[in-house]
Amino acid sequence: ATPTALLVGTGRGAQLGILISGPQVLEQTRAVDTIVLDKTGTVTTGRMRVQQVVPVEGVGADDVLAVAAAAEAGSEHPIARAVVEAAPRTAPAEQFLAHAGLGVQAVVGGRLTTVGRAAWLADAWAIELPESLAEQARRAETDGATVVAVAWDGAARGIIAVADTLKPSSPEAVRRFRDLGLEPVLLTGDNAGAAGAIARALDIDDVHAGVTPEGKLAVVRELQAAGRTVAMVGDGVNDQAALAASDLGIAMGQGTDAARAASDLTVVSGDLRVVADAVRLSRRTLGIIR
Ligand code: ADP
Ligand code: MG
Repeated sequence: ATPTALLVGTGRGAQLGILISGPQVLEQTRAVDTIVLDKTGTVTTGRMRVQQVVPVEGVGADDVLAVAAAAEAGSEHPIARAVVEAAPRTAPAEQFLAHAGLGVQAVVGGRLTTVGRAAWLADAWAIELPESLAEQARRAETDGATVVAVAWDGAARGIIAVADTLKPSSPEAVRRFRDLGLEPVLLTGDNAGAAGAIARALDIDDVHAGVTPEGKLAVVRELQAAGRTVAMVGDGVNDQAALAASDLGIAMGQGTDAARAASDLTVVSGDLRVVADAVRLSRRTLGIIR
């Protein structure tokens, strides 16, 4: 392509609501044949709501929410925002620590508090959910919710179920990707139940759930090793490594600074249909479609 064609493409990109890191992005966009989609905040709105709080015996639901909210106050994650919003009150927290794709820890009212994926609490901190709570967590997840466990002083104190909704534009975006010959893949750190509910709504068969940030990177590398040219779309700190390793990293405008910095292209509105438009535009600009 001539530099002029590239400039035209770049200018049109700005009209579409796309920010690109340089003219080479047009060529990268043209070449992709596979589109890996993060779930939370990418195909879903990322605005989660607390649906259910189940405490262990002897603990109040409001205490579970208040302590969890204190621990989550320093996190940008959609789960953290939902918990903070739902909490009746909050407590002062110290020594906040975020574990990307897993959860958070902080000292709340002098107690070491952990909020996150139940499997992470079990594996990393040897904190198991009592069977009655584990059963309710499984049920909520089968219904499509995301469940986090709340623990303090070394024991589980409750679970919080949150739920997210699809962006209205996502099903149409996935249809457009297919029309362009792009194979969609759903990639999420969330549980298989929540991932499956979203995958069914989008008609995506290739789903990887419960994936850590390193696991997301590994999925991108495996696709590339199989000869695919991969676009990865994400919004979170947990997507950063996968975005950087993909052939075309795409960040959602509402996402984290980390995701934008690791990406070649940013979709300002967060509407995935714009990504399909960008692929079509790049092919046309570089003479593939006339
Ligand atoms: P996704 O890949 O869908 O964007 P993440 O990788 O951000 O999801 O998160 C994966 C899982 O890690 C969440 O479903 C949750 O169980 C846990 N998690 C991550 N961050 C937090 C947080 N701030 N608070 C509680 N749980 C968290
Ligand atoms: Mg995300």
